[in-house]
Amino acid sequence: MKISDVLQKSSAQLDVELGSIINNYITLSDISSGADCAAVVKANAYGLGLEKVARAIYYNSKCNTFFVANLVEAINLRTILPDAIVYVFDGIFPEQVDTYLTHNIRPILNDLNQIKLWNGRRQSCAIHFDTGINRLGLSKVDTENFLNNTNDLKISLILSHLVNSEKVDNKSNNDQLNKFTKITHELKNVPASLSNSAGIYLGKDYHFDLVRPGIMLYGGNPGLPTRPNGIHDVVTLNARILQIRNLSPGMSVGYKAMWTANRNSRVALLNVGYADGILKTNDRNSHVFIAGAFAPVIGKVSMDMIAVDITEKEFDCVTVTDIAEILGTHITLEMVAKVSTLEPYEILTGIGHRYNRNYNLRT
Ligand SMILES: *Cc1c(COP(=O)(O)O)cnc(C)c1O
Repeated sequence: MKISDVLQKSSAQLDVELGSIINNYITLSDISSGADCAAVVKANAYGLGLEKVARAIYYNSKCNTFFVANLVEAINLRTILPDAIVYVFDGIFPEQVDTYLTHNIRPILNDLNQIKLWNGRRQSCAIHFDTGINRLGLSKVDTENFLNNTNDLKISLILSHLVNSEKVDNKSNNDQLNKFTKITHELKNVPASLSNSAGIYLGKDYHFDLVRPGIMLYGGNPGLPTRPNGIHDVVTLNARILQIRNLSPGMSVGYKAMWTANRNSRVALLNVGYADGILKTNDRNSHVFIAGAFAPVIGKVSMDMIAVDITEKEFDCVTVTDIAEILGTHITLEMVAKVSTLEPYEILTGIGHRYNRNYNLRT
């Protein structure tokens, strides 16, 4: 066997279905009633790999606008996609101006100082108006000040961000919609953007000219009652059984002896642990999928291992080197989120670096 094959098999496996990301993009784009659909690829494309994800979307869909969090991510993306439109949420500091200009990256200006810094420049920028989240963006006072004064900016986009977009009935959605709509009336010829993934599902009023989905491109449900049709799983994590042990009643498993057998038990050790992300906070109430059935994770999660109880009869056929699904079509992101304190966003961006990563493009 080639050493590369040997080494590949020695890590747990992360499969990213790029075709599903593209299909999810098309689903989101289709329901955005004529608005353009961008792709948010901050944080290494939500942990899945900026280069593969950005290329897949750009070359297999009509998407040409991307959002990242900071300038480092923007420069990486510029190297990957020389011609895409790239916006940076974090805004701009004086020492960054030349880098933005040289690499043709569009800053999203978040306050009046940043606006001053870009004023008079011939390159495009976006302006972020805070309509209630009190995170980034021009405050109410800044907004009035900005709208009452003339400027010399080439504004290619104005945006705002929703607080509770996943809660369809939350009153803040409508409040923010009204505030943002007023701003768009003051800046009539400038394209506008309000919605992240869940915002798209609030309906046509929320779509404006451009939508900015992230999590749903990657198959995550941001908190809607059910994941909408047409959004498909993207990530599969498979671990391998390193060893199987037989325990008698009273024997415990792992650090701090947090699980003790109360019957003759069969326990499998898998090659993923908290260093691989996702598992740490759901260690007491989660399952993996082996041989067509759900096996409970037992004891304390270790850095490089978890233990699962495979005593039940349906696991009799399970042997060392068999594969267990940690995340995928049976153990979904939503299920993992439910039994942990983590949101799908945190689970995805928390995926570690040790996996053997495999990217498929099946559309
Ligand atoms: C992260 C982010 C998005 C994408 O949000 P999702 O909920 O992942 O779709 C859109 N807009 C802003 C300002 C963001 O920070």
